[in-house]
Amino acid sequence: MKPPDPLPEGDLLDRALVAKDANPATARKPSTPAPDVPPSLYEEHTTVHPKRIDGRFRRFKWLVMLVTLAIYYGTPWIRWDRGPYAPDQAVLIDLANRRFYMFDIEIWPHEFYFVAGLLIMAGIGLFLVTSAVGRAWCGYACPQTVWTDLFQHVDRFVDGDRNARMRLDKAPWGAGKAARRFWKWTIYLVISFWTGGAWIMYFADAPTLTREFWAGDAAFVAYATVAVLTATTFWLGGFMREQVCVYMCPWPRIQTAMLDEKSLIVTYKHWRGEPRGSLKKSQKNPDTFGDCVDCNQCVAVCPTGIDIREGAQIGCITCALCIDACDKVMKEVGRPRGLIDYATLEDCEREAAGHAPRPVIKTLMHPRTLIYFGVWSAIGVALLFALGSRERTGITVQPDRNPPYMLLSDGSVRNSYTVKLRNMQSRPREMELSIVGLPGATMWTDDMNRDSAARAIVREVAADVALPLRVYVMAPRGSEEQDFSFKVTALDAEGETDSTETAFNAPEAP
Ligand code: SF4
Ligand code: SF4
Repeated sequence: MKPPDPLPEGDLLDRALVAKDANPATARKPSTPAPDVPPSLYEEHTTVHPKRIDGRFRRFKWLVMLVTLAIYYGTPWIRWDRGPYAPDQAVLIDLANRRFYMFDIEIWPHEFYFVAGLLIMAGIGLFLVTSAVGRAWCGYACPQTVWTDLFQHVDRFVDGDRNARMRLDKAPWGAGKAARRFWKWTIYLVISFWTGGAWIMYFADAPTLTREFWAGDAAFVAYATVAVLTATTFWLGGFMREQVCVYMCPWPRIQTAMLDEKSLIVTYKHWRGEPRGSLKKSQKNPDTFGDCVDCNQCVAVCPTGIDIREGAQIGCITCALCIDACDKVMKEVGRPRGLIDYATLEDCEREAAGHAPRPVIKTLMHPRTLIYFGVWSAIGVALLFALGSRERTGITVQPDRNPPYMLLSDGSVRNSYTVKLRNMQSRPREMELSIVGLPGATMWTDDMNRDSAARAIVREVAADVALPLRVYVMAPRGSEEQDFSFKVTALDAEGETDSTETAFNAPEAP
């Protein structure tokens, strides 16, 4: 075999950053435009027909696809007993009652910071994954990838593998082709409808909504949402496919900025593979050619239709199917696997220079990844701590601004407040509302007589609600403007309390 060409310094990194695209649909056509005629910005779409392949990454992709689809379609049907006063759906976004349920966790609107925290964790999690293993999210778990993969399996099921599909595409329209298209698009439509239908189940009790939906009794927004999601799934998964990744999604652009020479990416080891030549040629001239037998299998299996031998590029979603394809070819021709492999650009340079690659664990443990992991874990721990220590009793107080106070005929001063007692448990509870501070003051509410005014009143608060009360606080003649607190105490075994400070307004002393 010919020794590898020496690499100019930085060449590998340049290859990663310069997006060369071998997909005929997206490749820039060589052109020499006249000086004042701009090249066309339009590139005609060419359908990608990925070939069936088996291998360890393909099997991992199957696993991820089955798990993610099972989670998406199945989660709304999981029941979770929260007692008689709360819904029994394990994951539910109850917009009407402004609650988010997730198994034992119930998020109230004032606790939205938990959702914000989870979204921040998801964002940092994506950075973490990208820093450690490149575009693994795009290659395995992104919904666009998962549904495109599913639709490509439908293509194979109905039309056959790559060559059969390419032949059918080129064939003129006739009864056979029309029947196949009809059958295939019907399956697309069923999957798309099921996908849209599953989405709305997260927003209402799934069995009830299903019955209402088919009886025509569901809300208009449910039908509209299913229609929109059916159409977008059908179009994006069935027809747009890799074009979403290459042209529409911003994430590949962000990721190229986040990748560096320490990130794991799918790489063709050109120092080992080049110059490429067919098996016949390389057998005739054993020292002339590299390991690549130019069989094009890596291109044939690629779901975005690119040639990884052109270097790292924006169209590569790092699904690693080309690794499976090339490993299979290498096994058949009796050469070592890994001509295409997950590798960092730094390791590629080491390998090209004849050194052994670093162990994978060392590759994953670089400082940026560890920093992302540290931040991600810290937010996770803080959220868990906040979840574990939060009280299920709360109070909010809104004083009346106008008028700030009223002078009563006996000289006493009255202020009015809107108080909300929050019972965040899924059972009714008796709660005591009391005044802390403001000597001599008593209070009463709209539903009681002023004569029974007291420093503490008790109300039964239904399960999982915030009970609004109109509260009047009266302080004796001569009381001055001052701060005091309302305190709520749950009258049960746990005896949780919460309090909030507010102002008592009074006329200035003469
Ligand atoms: S080049 Fe390889 S890793 Fe990249 S998208 Fe194509 S098959 Fe997947
Ligand atoms: S599958 Fe491997 S041997 Fe075949 S063309 Fe691709 S890199 Fe070369």
